[in-house]
Amino acid sequence: MTNKELAELMYPNVTMTIKDLEEKFPKRALKEGAIVSRYAPSPTGFVHMGNMLSCFIESFLPKQTGGVFFLRIEDTDQKREVKGGIENIINSINSLGIEYDEGVVSGDEQKGAYGPYIQSQRREIYDVFAKYMIENDIAYPCFCREEELEETRKFQRNNKLRIGYYAKYARCRFLKNEERAEKIKQGLPYTIRLKSTGNFNHKVKFKDLVKGEVVFPENDQDIVLIKSDGIPVYHFAHLVDDHLMHTTHVLRGEDWLSSVPIHIELFKRFNFEQPKYAHLGLVMIVDENGTKRKISKRKDQDFTVLNYAKVGFPSGALQEYLMTIANTNFEGWRSANPDKPLIDFPFSFSKVGSNPLFDYSKLVNISKNYISKMDKETLYNELVNWSSKYDLELNDILVNNKDYSLAVLNIEREKKKPRKDYVTYSDIKKYSWYMFNDLFNKEKKEYEWQSVTDLDEIRNIVKTYFTKYYDIGDDHDTWFDKLKLLAKEFSYAEEVKDYKENPSKYKGSITDIATIIRVAITTKSQTPDLYEILHILGIDTINERINLL
Ligand code: GLU
Repeated sequence: MTNKELAELMYPNVTMTIKDLEEKFPKRALKEGAIVSRYAPSPTGFVHMGNMLSCFIESFLPKQTGGVFFLRIEDTDQKREVKGGIENIINSINSLGIEYDEGVVSGDEQKGAYGPYIQSQRREIYDVFAKYMIENDIAYPCFCREEELEETRKFQRNNKLRIGYYAKYARCRFLKNEERAEKIKQGLPYTIRLKSTGNFNHKVKFKDLVKGEVVFPENDQDIVLIKSDGIPVYHFAHLVDDHLMHTTHVLRGEDWLSSVPIHIELFKRFNFEQPKYAHLGLVMIVDENGTKRKISKRKDQDFTVLNYAKVGFPSGALQEYLMTIANTNFEGWRSANPDKPLIDFPFSFSKVGSNPLFDYSKLVNISKNYISKMDKETLYNELVNWSSKYDLELNDILVNNKDYSLAVLNIEREKKKPRKDYVTYSDIKKYSWYMFNDLFNKEKKEYEWQSVTDLDEIRNIVKTYFTKYYDIGDDHDTWFDKLKLLAKEFSYAEEVKDYKENPSKYKGSITDIATIIRVAITTKSQTPDLYEILHILGIDTINERINLL
């Protein structure tokens, strides 16, 4: 029986050839040097910042070189799949502001001409390659049962032999096609294994973009390429998908590094061009015991991308942060080029750190600066967008009071030294709630009085100020001069230094007066510029608040 006859018996319905598929998915018309890269996650759990690091670099390079970035869902391990896994991945990518040209848009929508982009929907394509492998003696059906495989492994262990299904231990490799056909006709389950031509004593060398030159023994294992349920394993799906989707660069976790000899053998047997590989170190965190360890999908749910999005880290700040862990020279470049768009950064594989550490305080710093540089319109739009998902109460306020909200957001903004207290979008409500009557009125008010606590004195000062001195039309200087007059009237020093020199002469200083007004109107002892706050709140609100005292 010929291989072709066996292949026909195994795949009677496959009529297409690899050539047909290559015509259907032709080489991409891109300019020289354009990178085609993909994010290829398995929907097996939370998406954390470590996952997003590779997704981010994978999206960055095509964008910079005029290439293509696509999202492929690798769901061949259905046992490990979690419910909502695909949505989780897509939401995480979106929340980082990463855009992809092709791939899975939602559970039932995909875009791009090289799909399907979900591996479980590519069965017919894999079958075409599988049939070709049987016909061309690249692979064969294996009928070994798990117990038999375990027995072989046990023998190998006991005799201190290399473990695996290779050389003479690859029992099914020696079956005749007639025997294979007979077993198939009997309905015995089988996997499809690579018929390796590698020699373990030979070396295979390749250049990894991150690790540099890497040397491994050649692969000689007849590894399973297709499981007994017809579903391909990673190695085979990688070959088929990255060939037909014309991936030029494969970025993935360094746990795949030792599999490269298998991939080299597979691509060679098909005469396909090998993509370039970049194996990235796992992102580490320092845990509560001070130990450095890798991020765990199960334990570290705080590190999920969606958690950062929910708290309101701007996607642009997260991208900036990811670049600091992607390339060790990024921070230097950023301080030399503070206003350049991120996409201008000359990313380099040789500058990828080996085990980048996730540094939360650095993210906080970057985010603070990032928000401080936004103009009020940008911040307003971002905040409306964020609150529409995570804080509907705030969203309502922002949408129904646009001009007022813009004024609030502009307090100490759009200037040379802008405020830097907002780290995330959720901080804006946390630090500025008193600027919005709806929020102020429902809040339990805890007045943060400082050195002056006598309520009669406080009421007296506040009433006098707003009836006698305060005029909303005053400019900043006049406003401050009037505050001094108020201080004088109540025997508080107009200058702090006068008070310091002669404390017994005064009840306090201008600082105490400003604090009394500040706390009376906002309840807080620390706020941005009081002049701006009073101006924006307006006289009606001020009067309402005085009446609460
Ligand atoms: N699905 C694989 C993983 O999640 C992808 C590796 C790759 O990008 O090729 O590890």
